[in-house]
Amino acid sequence: MSIASTIAALEAELAGTAAKLVVVTKTHPVERLREAYAAGARRFGENRVQEMAAKQPELPADVEWHQIGQLQTNKVKYLAAFVHTVQSIDSLRLLLELEKHAARHQRTIYGLLQFHIAQEETKTGLSLAEAEAILQSAEYQSLRHVRLTGVMGIATHSPDAEAVRAEFRQLRQHFEFLKATYFAQEESFREISMGMSADYALAIAEGSTLIRVGSAIFGSRA
Ligand SMILES: *Cc1c(COP(=O)(O)O)cnc(C)c1O
Repeated sequence: MSIASTIAALEAELAGTAAKLVVVTKTHPVERLREAYAAGARRFGENRVQEMAAKQPELPADVEWHQIGQLQTNKVKYLAAFVHTVQSIDSLRLLLELEKHAARHQRTIYGLLQFHIAQEETKTGLSLAEAEAILQSAEYQSLRHVRLTGVMGIATHSPDAEAVRAEFRQLRQHFEFLKATYFAQEESFREISMGMSADYALAIAEGSTLIRVGSAIFGSRA
């Protein structure tokens, strides 16, 4: 299938659900991003800062750029002028760095707290206790240019659907707890980013609001 017809089929699957599509464009050349844009895609996810910064000026200004890979504080400067959402918030230090650069650009950067939900040791992310320590800190409460809008997680790569489902459920429970405890008054705290090419249908069934899909649209990455 073409990029356009795959995106159209995905959008048809998403109709009537809470989920929106983030097209994961990492490793793919700008021409393919333009094809996705022409097919209606407006949220693009990249995991390498320099790659995203190089592609961003080549696409129309109404693209929402999502950083989905780990972000080192020394690279925040490359994306602060344009990034819409950093989905991979894993420390207070990163939030403070984003605040500094967003303030300089007089803009707001949105963020998702990334949780460790997978079995694999290698997948990064916060525990609930670590997230709460951030949210309770005075530094967090002083942020004016960074706004947390939800949570993100990467499930174990596994054919065991029930195990994957349990991880999505855990992420959703973290979301519900944080929403009730820290964000009850904040309408904008509403995103649960979960689900990739292999598991997005399960993620939608468990309440995903943002699915991050790459290879199902572009084929496998080199
Ligand atoms: C690469 C990536 C995706 C997309 O993975 P696919 O299996 O190609 O859909 C989603 N989320 C994150 C964090 C990624 O790094």
